[in-house]
Amino acid sequence: MKQAYLDNSATTPVDSRVAEAMQPFLKESFGNPSSVHSTGQTVRVAVEHARSQVAALIGARDDEIFFTSGGTEADNWAIKGAAWARSDKGNHIITSSIEHHAVIESCEYLAKHGFEVTFLPVDRYGKVAPGDVEKAITPKTILISIMHANNEIGTIQPVAEIGRIARQHGILFHVDAVQTTGHLPVNVGDLNADLLSMSGHKLYGPKGIGALYIKKGVRIDSLLSGGSQERHKRPGTENVPGIVGFGKAAEIAMAEMNDETEKITALRDRLAAELLERIPDATLNGHPSERLPNNVNISFQYVEGESLVLHLDFEAISASTGSACSSSSLEPSHVLLACGRLAEEAHGSIRFSLGKFNDDEDIDRVIETLPGIVKKLRAMSPLAPGAVK
Ligand SMILES: *Cc1c(COP(=O)(O)O)cnc(C)c1O
Repeated sequence: MKQAYLDNSATTPVDSRVAEAMQPFLKESFGNPSSVHSTGQTVRVAVEHARSQVAALIGARDDEIFFTSGGTEADNWAIKGAAWARSDKGNHIITSSIEHHAVIESCEYLAKHGFEVTFLPVDRYGKVAPGDVEKAITPKTILISIMHANNEIGTIQPVAEIGRIARQHGILFHVDAVQTTGHLPVNVGDLNADLLSMSGHKLYGPKGIGALYIKKGVRIDSLLSGGSQERHKRPGTENVPGIVGFGKAAEIAMAEMNDETEKITALRDRLAAELLERIPDATLNGHPSERLPNNVNISFQYVEGESLVLHLDFEAISASTGSACSSSSLEPSHVLLACGRLAEEAHGSIRFSLGKFNDDEDIDRVIETLPGIVKKLRAMSPLAPGAVK
């Protein structure tokens, strides 16, 4: 049986056109793009072509794209690099309580080194209020970091408006757009972003490659010391196959995003509606409409998300309890807790994240198997009503 892969927010399968584009750079085109000879210079051309492909996807200039080892590095660099570069102007950072761990932990690191961080609350749908951002600003605020869309519950934030507020106050604005780039229109101008993080493996590209958009004229410190790669800002010999693959993935996303979104939204809506109808005591997490087109996150009372994931896997369905990064810890999701869910509700949640390779059969399999799994687990649960105490 083909695995119904519904964990595309953790990572996406590599598009075969991407793998094909990378192939020469794993073997015959092995040159170092910094070398002066032609072996290096042909590779340099490929790296710069990929940079244009990524820049085009987000409406940036080519020289505003800096390749990194992924979304995590881009987030770390944006936040720590901006903080250190502006530490003479102030020490206050504003972010939200539902950011990706790469953002939250970078902020917590800075909090240990003399910076002050405000973690804004969210409403029950996981949305940050722009008014709260404005109220949190002090004369010492140097950076605001708010994600475009949440990786666990899919809620899309009013980033353009928050960016406008940041710009009015002369504060740098960073957007973690790892979940939206290549899936929804992302334009750095429209979002008023100074810094924006992306990752290749979330848009059908390879793992271990990402990029940080740095708006022309914005200066942030480098995290690494070394050579002059990436215009002296991010040293280290380039991950050429990764960069070429990321570029190809960006080009494909740009051409095919609209059709894909339409198809994925239809599958997603059917999945959410059927599950909520067939299974009692189930609540949709995240915003009812302002959410990623591929995300369904539901809390089922009286069951554990981990058990659901394992039972679904027996039925050849890959789903997750939330984020891949925290699934090995037993802590309830910080995102669901911030939305006001109780710890037991947070524990009983499951995320289905769809992708362009899903079809009706995948959705049918979930709709047919999950109600039975939930029923069986509830029958064994000491928490369920009617359970023998
Ligand atoms: C996956 C993810 C990241 C981390 O990206 P990696 O390339 O896996 O390091 C950061 N932010 C969000 C919102 C993500 O979904």
